[in-house]
Amino acid sequence: MSCSKWRWVSSGMETVGALLLLITFFVQRGWSLVSIACAALMLAGIALSAVKCRCPVCRRYLSGRVPLSATRCPFCGASLSEEKAAHK
Ligand SMILES: [Zn+2]
Repeated sequence: MSCSKWRWVSSGMETVGALLLLITFFVQRGWSLVSIACAALMLAGIALSAVKCRCPVCRRYLSGRVPLSATRCPFCGASLSEEKAAHK
C-alpha cells in the first residue's frame, strides 16, 4: 500500500477507535473489555501512522498538519501515492 493509503487507514482507525471508546465509556461508565479494545484500536492507528506515514523519499514523518488529501510530500515534493520508492 502506498503512503497516502496508510494515512487514511491509520487516521480512520484512530477516529473510529476514539469514537467507540467515548461511546462505550459513556454507556458502561468505566473501563471494560470493549473500551480497552477500542483504546487498543486507537493506539494501533497512532502506531501505524508513526510507522507508515513517512515520505518514501526523504523519510520525513507526515504529521496531522499535512492534509490527508495531500498527494505530494510537503518537504521534498515527492509523490506519496507511488510505492516504487518505498523500498530502498
Ligand atoms: Zn519527502
